[in-house]
Amino acid sequence: MSDRHNAKAATIAPPQRAQQDLLALGIAVAATIMVAGIAGSALTQIWYKASGIGFGPDQLLTNALLLNIALVIFGWRRYDDLHNEVVSHRQFEAQARLMAQTDPLTGCLNRHSITPATDQLITESRERDEIVAFVMVDINNFKQVNELNGHAVGDAILAELAGRLSSIMPAGALVARLGGDEFACAIPFNPAQGERIGHLAEAIIDTIGQPIAADVFEGEISAAIGIARCDRLNRMGTAPADAAALLHMADIAMYQAKKHGRNHVMWFEDTMETELRYRCELEAGIRVGIARGEFVPYYEQQVDLTTGEILGFEMLARWHSPAFGVIAPDVFIPIAEEIGLIADMSECLIAQALRDAREWDPRLTLSVNISPFQLRDPWFAQKVLKLLVAANFPPHRLDIEITETSLHQNIAGVHSLVTSLRNQGISISLDDFGTGYSSLAQLRKLPFDRIKIDRSFVTAMRDDPDSRTIVETIAALGKGLGLPITAEGVENAELLENLRELGQFKGQGYFYGRPQPADATRILLAERHLLAEVTSELGLASPSECNATDQTVRRTA
Ligand code: C2E
Ligand code: CA
Ligand code: CA
Repeated sequence: MSDRHNAKAATIAPPQRAQQDLLALGIAVAATIMVAGIAGSALTQIWYKASGIGFGPDQLLTNALLLNIALVIFGWRRYDDLHNEVVSHRQFEAQARLMAQTDPLTGCLNRHSITPATDQLITESRERDEIVAFVMVDINNFKQVNELNGHAVGDAILAELAGRLSSIMPAGALVARLGGDEFACAIPFNPAQGERIGHLAEAIIDTIGQPIAADVFEGEISAAIGIARCDRLNRMGTAPADAAALLHMADIAMYQAKKHGRNHVMWFEDTMETELRYRCELEAGIRVGIARGEFVPYYEQQVDLTTGEILGFEMLARWHSPAFGVIAPDVFIPIAEEIGLIADMSECLIAQALRDAREWDPRLTLSVNISPFQLRDPWFAQKVLKLLVAANFPPHRLDIEITETSLHQNIAGVHSLVTSLRNQGISISLDDFGTGYSSLAQLRKLPFDRIKIDRSFVTAMRDDPDSRTIVETIAALGKGLGLPITAEGVENAELLENLRELGQFKGQGYFYGRPQPADATRILLAERHLLAEVTSELGLASPSECNATDQTVRRTA
């Protein structure tokens, strides 16, 4: 623990309390006065006796004098003992207080002490016409650093970073470790020179990114920074922000900075607060919505572009939220992934889709989208099999879409997963192809059954020659590798014609209609005579937790 860090923690002085044993002191003082009084007469009598004109001090006076001398000695010794005790007690208290205010690993202030210290700093700065910037620093991917290198290395890195942070702080600034890999600095500054804080934030990013001693850690460290200043109003808009409000605002700004990637700095804006509140409401809504069956499958036709025949449907999730209305998956899937609920949600949706698809003509396929998070689950293939068995749905009718971008995160894992799913008879499509820069080698290595050209290329191919070239190249690639192709985003007849010229594709898009809920899909299929003939056998599958409510939500949709 460095002295510099300690000094920062010690800036909050404890209130001085006088602790003295008045009784012991009183006894000693009273006895001293009495000794002085008695000793006067006793000494006079002793002097008379020595001069031969008296009888010397009487017995009672002598005893009283000796008793008082004993009392003085006792009183002063007791006072001295107690005084020493109080001093060591005070030292112990100061040590305990320092420990309670200090992060033991780094010697910085901790989460508890930074708030009162910042409030004190705000008050002091105001007297100098200065304000305080609260800078929140979050180290990116520190959990991984800990997991890969061990906690001892993690601790050494945190201590080193704390030292670097403190070393670049201006005089009077506070540095705290809020816990884990989060640091905070409270920095007084002249409000006319706000750019100084911006430069300091850049310096923080820079110092954190400097290499750590090679024998400790060789990787790269980056950070996200959120800043709030105390001349903004608090959340109620009633008063300038205090330390607690600053911490809250800087935290929100830091969260936004994190979303923008590595080494990003963001100043707090009021809109961030609204966004965060909306996001929290979405999160809470998703948590309860899964159990209530508010996530329902919609279906988009997949068509033979040459004949116009329906070959199957892609299931696309929708959230029928009582609070927000119908919400698209681009909004809720990333949140469900982040809060660890994507697997539960997806399994409910797939279970429901399998039950819906059993009512369709058995030649029709069902495609479902899978999140990269689910691909990391070693039990994923077993879970899919269980859902198929529960719905009594033949595996060869199920197609699983894996996005191209998710391949790179875990190519070995995806390879074994794809192999085991295909061994069960399920087919696998490579979704959004063209957006993820897959290499040819990867494409050859992974046993996909189909490639889906990303809709951005298809919808742009009419006006943008590059997009048209990409679509043509993918078509040729598919032919060369023997992989059938689906074109997404077939929006109009002209695009359809363009695609037909390039070969025989499966296609899907708004030209064939928007994704529809199960009821509307069933009506469409009934019109085309594409419903399963034996309907009496349907509905035998055991209802899952999200089944019963799903039906209700879909009926009322
Ligand atoms: P995706 O798999 O690429 O799905 C196609 C998206 O394009 C759908 O958007 C669909 O409504 C939209 N689309 C279809 N035809 C056209 C067209 O002609 N023009 C245009 N501009 N767009 C068209 P949606 O339903 O909003 O889904 C967005 C993405 O959300 C999907 O992209 C998919 O990656 C993801 N998603 C949907 N459902 C699920 C799910 O259950 N699980 C997971 N993990 N992801 C899902
Ligand atoms: Ca898809
Ligand atoms: Ca797609």
